[in-house]
Amino acid sequence: MTRSPGGLRAIRTRSELAGTLDELRAGGRSVGFVPTMGFLHDGHLSLVARARQGTDVVALSIFVNPLQFGPGEDLDRYPRDLDHDLALAAGAGVDVVFAPSREEMFPDGPPEVRVVPGALGARLCGAFRPGHFEGVLTIVARLFGLVRPDMAVFGRKDFQQAVLIRRMVDDLALGVEIHVAPLLREADGLAMSSRNAFLSAEERAAAPTLFRALDGAERAFRAGEHNGARLGARVMDVLTATPGFRPEYAELVHPGSLEAVREARAGDVLAAATFLGETRLIDNVVLGAATPDPRVGDRESR
Ligand code: AMP
Repeated sequence: MTRSPGGLRAIRTRSELAGTLDELRAGGRSVGFVPTMGFLHDGHLSLVARARQGTDVVALSIFVNPLQFGPGEDLDRYPRDLDHDLALAAGAGVDVVFAPSREEMFPDGPPEVRVVPGALGARLCGAFRPGHFEGVLTIVARLFGLVRPDMAVFGRKDFQQAVLIRRMVDDLALGVEIHVAPLLREADGLAMSSRNAFLSAEERAAAPTLFRALDGAERAFRAGEHNGARLGARVMDVLTATPGFRPEYAELVHPGSLEAVREARAGDVLAAATFLGETRLIDNVVLGAATPDPRVGDRESR
């Protein structure tokens, strides 16, 4: 893969993005894309590494998308640090960072026409965040239109999001190859997330309970517990009993259809969301299998 000469280009406008990508695409070079909301961490950078494996040019977007936040959610206090993000992106070999303002992203105001996720978007997190996935899919579709990537990488951390993006690309024939990269964790098991910056020292110490609960249920599966409802209930019980946690759901689902699984099998996904204080945490584990990530969002697999 040839890297673009001149290092990272930080871009604020759609027109500059189009011009730069046209230039970088010259000679048939392929473009990989990593959409983010910024405040980058190693989880994001692992997506960049994945994109670099498959494409010549890597573009990363930083945009805190107002469409995917509900009233009373953390849009206004979402963490931001563009300078630090640019340094991390440069170090990871990103060629183009697109960090538009809200006005640049939506010059005519919020989009009138949106991508509706259907029943898949009403499950799991969608049941607790109405409109969230419509906002996610609409912005990702718009970003795909602006960047026109050959491939894009998403993290299994946001498992339901990855499933929905796969479906959107299939259903609307958007022609972007989607990769779902593994979930990166801190040393104590906590899933890396920009929102972890919200946690107080006490909450940060308690936060790995979420992963430990999921991991405990996964080990119970391997020890012979195959009842999907009971595996979910184990996680809920741990979270409910732990001070500071207010769980929303813990559910075993099929990795492609997101349907609740009654009889657990390797490859099914145990997903959970909880508040810890004022911070919403999500996490998931895949039952049994060693490297099941490629199956996320794949309807045919089973
Ligand atoms: P965000 O900035 O939180 O919207 O995330 C941007 C992308 O990074 C999404 O595809 C996420 O799934 C992915 N991502 C976030 N955290 C992690 C993580 N801990 N491991 C892997 N990917 C992640």
